[in-house]
Amino acid sequence: MGDSPDNPDSLPWESEAEEAAPSAAELEAAGQNSMFGDAVTDTAPPAEVAAAAAPVAAPAPAETRAATPATTAQQPYRVLARKYRPQTFAELIGQDAMVRTLANAIARDRLAHAFLMTGVRGVGKTSTARLIAKALNCIGPDGQGGPTISPCGECEPCRAIAEGRHIDVIEMDAASHTGVDDVREIIEAVRYAAVSARYKIYIIDEVHMLSRNAFNALLKTLEEPPAHVKFLFATTEVEKLPVTVLSRTQRFDLRRIPVELLQSHFAEICRKEGVEADEEALHIIAGAAEGSVRDGLSILDQAIAHADLDTEGKVSAERVRDMLGLADKSAQRRLFGHMLEGDGAALLTAINEQYALGVEPLALMRAQMDLAHRIALAQVSGGDAEGASQDEREALGEWATRLDVGQVHRLWQLLLKGHEEVRLAPDPLVSLRMALLRVLHAGQMPDPGKLAKKLETLAERAPTSSSNPSSASKQTAPSAEARPDWRALVEAIDASGMMQEANVLRLQVRVVELGDGMLRYGRDAKFGDEILPIVKDTLFRHTGKRWDVEEVPGGEGAPSLVEQEIAQRDADAAALRAHPLVKAAFEAFPDAELIEDGAAPPSRREIPWSRNA
Ligand SMILES: [Zn+2]
Repeated sequence: MGDSPDNPDSLPWESEAEEAAPSAAELEAAGQNSMFGDAVTDTAPPAEVAAAAAPVAAPAPAETRAATPATTAQQPYRVLARKYRPQTFAELIGQDAMVRTLANAIARDRLAHAFLMTGVRGVGKTSTARLIAKALNCIGPDGQGGPTISPCGECEPCRAIAEGRHIDVIEMDAASHTGVDDVREIIEAVRYAAVSARYKIYIIDEVHMLSRNAFNALLKTLEEPPAHVKFLFATTEVEKLPVTVLSRTQRFDLRRIPVELLQSHFAEICRKEGVEADEEALHIIAGAAEGSVRDGLSILDQAIAHADLDTEGKVSAERVRDMLGLADKSAQRRLFGHMLEGDGAALLTAINEQYALGVEPLALMRAQMDLAHRIALAQVSGGDAEGASQDEREALGEWATRLDVGQVHRLWQLLLKGHEEVRLAPDPLVSLRMALLRVLHAGQMPDPGKLAKKLETLAERAPTSSSNPSSASKQTAPSAEARPDWRALVEAIDASGMMQEANVLRLQVRVVELGDGMLRYGRDAKFGDEILPIVKDTLFRHTGKRWDVEEVPGGEGAPSLVEQEIAQRDADAAALRAHPLVKAAFEAFPDAELIEDGAAPPSRREIPWSRNA
């Protein structure tokens, strides 16, 4: 497939006739075995033999086929994930490191007794296990070969394993056989030599599902396995495996497959299937697959089925987007936009819509994080955003220029925190709403550029246009800027990740005296809970030394940072409202709200989750 251009000779199934020559296992599955006899045409000189052996299923030559897509094929339909299950390591995409390690182990005859394949679903764990089984038991076309990283696919063991009928390769799904009895059966059987193959191989899928007793039983065998036995374990949740099992296996972490690799893989499959597909459509599918070949292929299956219903028969980005609904990037972008623009009602509606479509709150959160991430990337690369579609690139590019770097990082932190909350929450949807609303409130980011332009345009039209706009919003702070150290300290505490604590300090602490390692402060009487331990602990964690902290009763001291900000904002607002430009704006937009973009970064202006604390 697409990832193995360097080794085409060893891949006969790459040939044009591959589609016409499904493996025996696939044929069997499709109930067509009798028609084809037991021929496995993988290795036959492609076109002629395939055509002769399978007249019904033989496709038209490639060119015509491309013009008249899969609808004309009379082959029984097989899902792509099954049809294109990798039959060699070269076909296994995205797992080069693992294949190299395994090849070395085979070449040096240093094979472990037990292998563990880990990774998210659909990255090829069971495919890999079957390939390893083939690699270990292949005897080559002449019956003389030894273990090899390139199993021939022709010999009896190779074929039997591919068809899942090899007597010495036992596959077991731990999800349905969790008990100790199931394992005991294995252990009993382990003592007997392989019937026909070099190794007796046990493939145990989702091995983490085994019960503790089952693991213990298995462990005895793992400690001293007979030389002719190999265990191949696969799991999505490696952290659930006992250390005793982990330590007795050679572990392979199968990686999520990158979007680009998936995309080119899918493009190759479309080419083989004679299906026309937009690059963008394939990119969307690859993105929605989240690193899983299998998930991606089943989406592609659906997309092709949808495309067949259309007159054009082409897999288009638009249709794929419609079809996915869930993975609709434009809906995610709209949601993100509502959040940045501070439109709470629209945000909640968008969340509800997505939820109704079946999007998991956690997935939605992840999509928002993905956007923030890609905005940051776009900022680093100077505004060139990566995206599947033109729309997406434009939106990301615009956000990348509109937000400053600090804001994007703050956004990321908030989303990450929200992700954690949604993950742990008893009601993820509620948690999602709260988390995104918090981002909205904390990170309300008006568009100063647009606002200024709008106002200027209005001012030009307004009869009272002023020639001195600079005096409008920049007034000196009303009070207590005499504590710059305190502000800087709180900002640093916030930036170090203690956002909640920083908010308490901002909101409640009225500094009476601040010195080296010493803080005396007052609080407004309206605050009930004791904060002294929090203040002490926060300062200790931030500075690494014990502070002498004292709360002075009676609410004395300079205004808290929040109080300062509110005072500043009120002063600004008053000054701004008096300005002719703003008057013009309010005349034009009677329902307008005044949102300042003053000296404080936007995230500091609104601290809604603490103001009413
Ligand atoms: Zn073989």
